[in-house]
Amino acid sequence: MTDGCIFCRIIAGEIPGDLVYQDSEIVAFRDVHPVAPTHVLIVPRKHVSSVRELAEADVELIGRMVLCAKSIAEQEGIAERGYRLVVNCGAEGGQLVQHLHLHLVGGRQLTDSIG
Ligand code: AMP
Repeated sequence: MTDGCIFCRIIAGEIPGDLVYQDSEIVAFRDVHPVAPTHVLIVPRKHVSSVRELAEADVELIGRMVLCAKSIAEQEGIAERGYRLVVNCGAEGGQLVQHLHLHLVGGRQLTDSIG
């Protein structure tokens, strides 16, 4: 756990999160400021601050995060309609929380283009 990291604190159960999935490597919880009916954050338990910090050893973890998003989309009933997976990286990428996370967004027509 990294001091002062809000996602580490949610993962540790120190502050509440609306969890939708967890296993030994990944925790997924609803975004506190959802931009769509489904807005879930898929987060590794291990503190990796951003895509910039990813290493070759994390390849499997990233794959699991995407498969986790796929299965949550099915649970949420949005798999067939479609959804968006987003990872923000760094200041200009709009990353606000410095703990790697994958946004799963769906449940409405997403019209805004990238950027
Ligand atoms: P990003 O801009 O990609 O770093 O996204 C961070 C996301 O974390 C934002 O969509 C926030 O609404 C969300 N967020 C911040 N604090 C919490 C929290 N305590 N529980 C759930 N989501 C949070």
